[in-house]
Amino acid sequence: MVEIIDIHCHLTFKEYEADRADVIEEAQAILKGVVTSGVEPEDASKALELAESYPDFIFVSLGLHPIHVVEKSDREISDYEEFISDNRARIVGIGEIGLDYHWIRDPLKIKRTKEVFKELLELAKELDLPVVLHLRGEGAIEEGLKFISDADIRKAVFHCFTGKPQLAAEICNENEGYHISLPASISRSKTMKKVAKRIPLSSLHAETDAPYLSPEPDEQHKRNVPQHVKVVYEEIARQKKSDFHSVENAIDANFERMFGVKLKLKR
Ligand SMILES: [Zn+2]
Repeated sequence: MVEIIDIHCHLTFKEYEADRADVIEEAQAILKGVVTSGVEPEDASKALELAESYPDFIFVSLGLHPIHVVEKSDREISDYEEFISDNRARIVGIGEIGLDYHWIRDPLKIKRTKEVFKELLELAKELDLPVVLHLRGEGAIEEGLKFISDADIRKAVFHCFTGKPQLAAEICNENEGYHISLPASISRSKTMKKVAKRIPLSSLHAETDAPYLSPEPDEQHKRNVPQHVKVVYEEIARQKKSDFHSVENAIDANFERMFGVKLKLKR
């Protein structure tokens, strides 16, 4: 039996509007759990509500994606932080949060995303939760690493890691609580495959970022689903010259350690 986890997806997104319950049911057939990530206040409420219907299967992390940071006022952000604190018991992490130099180019907006990123790291510390990092664009991963280590964050996942193997190694060496998460698009990325080979299994996670990043080669714009996370486990097993089951056990253990969740055994 396959028992895998997707540590990062967005089941609340509009791409699942028509058939969300079916998608989740199909995911439940092969997955042990998923973490759906709320990216802004409205989405956060939807994520919490959705998780209510699937206890012990859908877990929630709440964050403010950098692209949403720039459209919110100070007041809106502090209200949202309060909302997150109030719902501490219903979430397993803070994220995604971070830096995005792909979409955000304006220096003032960049400055703003950095300030809010710092604030959200403080919130994660206060609530004693791990962070899920979105770091995209030139130099973002290196900077993000500096932010979390300056903030004395002990547990962090670099979600959808796109950096070089050397950088992944530096991250894992810096702190044993800093982990790398690889997406299903690893199927078409030589660099990600090298990262999977280089990084110890104890520092790796698997995700889909569904509805984005489909593993299918000619269908990058096709909707992704959580069960495609299997591709990542298979690729990690290949790169580690290990078997699927050992990889599965190791990654499950990483998930439990990172998010402080004990996964239920499936019937
Ligand atoms: Zn995401």
